[in-house]
Amino acid sequence: MDDNTRQRYLRSLPGVDQVLQSSVLLKVQVNYPQQVMNDAVRETVSSLRTKIIQAESEEELLDMDFHVETLAQKSLEMVKETLKPNLCNVINATGTVLHTNLGRSLLADKAVEAVKEVSRHYSNLELDLSTGERGSRYSHVEDLLCRLTGAQGALVVNNNAGAVMLVLNTLAQGREVIISRGQMVEIGGSFRIPDVMIQSGAHLVEVGTTNKTHLYDYERAITENTAMLLKVHTSNYHIVGFTSQVSGTELVELGTKYNIPVVEDLGSGVLIDLSKYGLMGEPTVQESVKEGLEVVTFSGDKLLGGPQAGIIVGNKKSIQKIKKNQLTRALRIDKMTLAALEATLQLYLDEDKAVREIPTLNMLTLPHMVLEARASSLAAFLKNHLTGKAQIKVIDGFSQVGGGALPLENIPTKLVSLQPYRMVTTLEVTQRLREEAVPIIARIHKNQLLIDLRTVREDEMPLLQDSLVRVMKKV
Ligand SMILES: *Cc1c(COP(=O)(O)O)cnc(C)c1O
Repeated sequence: MDDNTRQRYLRSLPGVDQVLQSSVLLKVQVNYPQQVMNDAVRETVSSLRTKIIQAESEEELLDMDFHVETLAQKSLEMVKETLKPNLCNVINATGTVLHTNLGRSLLADKAVEAVKEVSRHYSNLELDLSTGERGSRYSHVEDLLCRLTGAQGALVVNNNAGAVMLVLNTLAQGREVIISRGQMVEIGGSFRIPDVMIQSGAHLVEVGTTNKTHLYDYERAITENTAMLLKVHTSNYHIVGFTSQVSGTELVELGTKYNIPVVEDLGSGVLIDLSKYGLMGEPTVQESVKEGLEVVTFSGDKLLGGPQAGIIVGNKKSIQKIKKNQLTRALRIDKMTLAALEATLQLYLDEDKAVREIPTLNMLTLPHMVLEARASSLAAFLKNHLTGKAQIKVIDGFSQVGGGALPLENIPTKLVSLQPYRMVTTLEVTQRLREEAVPIIARIHKNQLLIDLRTVREDEMPLLQDSLVRVMKKV
């Protein structure tokens, strides 16, 4: 392309000010930060200028539109994109209830309400209202946790990984901690027990084998430098076959004999007996406390169904010591989390209420009939709107608990299966679903798109239906 032509194109390119003064942008000026608008327009104009400068032939520029209003429209899209929050809602149609990538537990309405209140007003976070003196933020949930778990004392920190680190650091820094080789777990996000141990300053002493560890393995490893026997709940995997692990009760007996505390990382931490609801029995926190463990730690946002938090319950003396550790300050829980946790724990005072109102428990215990009705209704809607586009069926399937809890538990569910007639991959469909205004996350299996309504909330149904129809019509 000759220089004259190139110059002609460059001259026809509107200036930044011209675009900013266009009717498109003037109309919306008050809605958006001026700086963001300026940047967007500058970027739009400059990218066109680059294209003109780099064009090798005029053909490349022929279908380009240099109208002020077109550039303004482009800039406006860019502004909207810039201002869109990065962290956004998605619809979880995977059926995995505690999906770590999707934010694990949803909060109960009462917990959401509590977060709103505590964040809009000042609070007695660290004020003792009866004396007017400085209080402790940890006091707000301690009684409740003790009542629910039967423990003497309790403390909450940022998350369970932090809780484990804190407990090890407080009770075993510079000393030995004995743990079974069958319990050297790695949790998602590279939380590995051996690594956490190093970070905490405790020395790891592994005993037993991957599949079998006996009480005498622990006993033989005890030295005068042993600070703790640690039991870790293998929450996200299961060793089957020729296996044995030492029970909490036996470990506590051994610990008592040598005056060594026994600590358990329960991982998920559940406060109600789930076997009543047809789910495999996960050990409850109360059971661990009753076994006489010195300290038990668990997550706030796994099976408990509350906010992200690490909960530490145990004997008064150890809890006191942990509270005084400087590390506690670094792992401290925030007031919004505390408010959500207190509201969630209060629901547990009435088990029926907990199961009804805590979304995690509610989703896990949904009656099969409800799931079937939801699936049939969605399938009927889709069949109506997607004639000739896809084969739509209701099929049997399984939901997962997720979050590293109950790894073997497959909960029967009803799935809506969509199989596109056209040669489009379901991979492409899931990609497009993720690009919806409210992204939809679904599973694929053997070229079928599978929708599990266990994890879809009632008020999300219209959105889900519309998105599925829109996306399937496009492909
Ligand atoms: C999930 C889990 C953790 C980590 O808990 P977070 O609350 O995610 O920090 C630690 N230990 C076990 C056994 C777990 O299952």
